[in-house]
Amino acid sequence: MLINLQKDLSAADRRSLRQALARLLPGCPQRRAPSGLTVAISNPEAADAVPGIENLPGVAGVSLSSSELCPLACAGTKKSFSRPLDFGRGPVFIAGPCAVEDRSSYLASALALKAAGARALRAALFKPRSSPYAFQGIGWPGLKIIAEAKKITGLPLVTEATDTRQIDRLSAVCDILQIGARNMQNYELLKEAGRSGLAVLLKRGMHATLREWLLSAEYLLKHGAKRLILCERGDSVFSSDSPGLDFRLMREAGKLTGLPVLADPSHASKNREIAVRLAFKALRAGADGLLIEASVSPSTAKVDGRQTVTIETFRSITGK
Ligand code: PEP
Ligand code: MN
Repeated sequence: MLINLQKDLSAADRRSLRQALARLLPGCPQRRAPSGLTVAISNPEAADAVPGIENLPGVAGVSLSSSELCPLACAGTKKSFSRPLDFGRGPVFIAGPCAVEDRSSYLASALALKAAGARALRAALFKPRSSPYAFQGIGWPGLKIIAEAKKITGLPLVTEATDTRQIDRLSAVCDILQIGARNMQNYELLKEAGRSGLAVLLKRGMHATLREWLLSAEYLLKHGAKRLILCERGDSVFSSDSPGLDFRLMREAGKLTGLPVLADPSHASKNREIAVRLAFKALRAGADGLLIEASVSPSTAKVDGRQTVTIETFRSITGK
């Protein structure tokens, strides 16, 4: 923790500040720094003392490093896990329609995507939609469909959990729980997803900062998640005229955490032509893979068809 001090503090003021700090953070060694003091905080709970420290006389500001704020996320977990996805074998492509809509189209897409290079399938049963009148996903009847898709393709399934009450049933079939952008800061959902013990794919919330994203990752890890994948989906909302992915942020997240970082060009662009360009750009920028909407019939999709690429386009991205 770096504590910036106000200028021209007397020796006596400094002494009493150091004593007050020792009371707030007992046992945490203090050292002089160019702009003030650093305090080596012994556990992440100590960060709770920040508001008290900020109010001490003589303190101009307090800052915590990412590893002090998110010690588990920044512990260098590395891309070491190989199940359910192996990140050591080149870019990982997770593909599928936005939502599972019916058995025959989903199974057709699943088989075609596997042949075109998908290493896992998107399989959303519950869709968080801006409008309560929009298609909300087919819900539990879809569980049998995705179980069948898994059986016939042998691919792991990624599905979004939108509510803590879904997690047990989804975990019985799915391999990776997705926490969507809108739920990145749904802390009860993060805790429950962490407790499931499943791998979790955590999207960055729209306009969320790197710190907020990492703190959400920290929730998952603190509550039991062992395998975590980060996914950048951009800040775009439907009316946005500047679709894009934040590659700098992705690189920073990867560097700080050692976790795999995927790009989602579909939700970042809302447009399949732009999504393809973004997909290639993301791979060139060092993304560990893509979460991309692709299916056999984008034009008939009930949701996000405009941003869904065809199988042929998907194949051109994977190079298979
Ligand atoms: C999705 O991947 O299906 C999705 C809803 O994405 P996001 O949470 O990024 O909007
Ligand atoms: Mn979608």
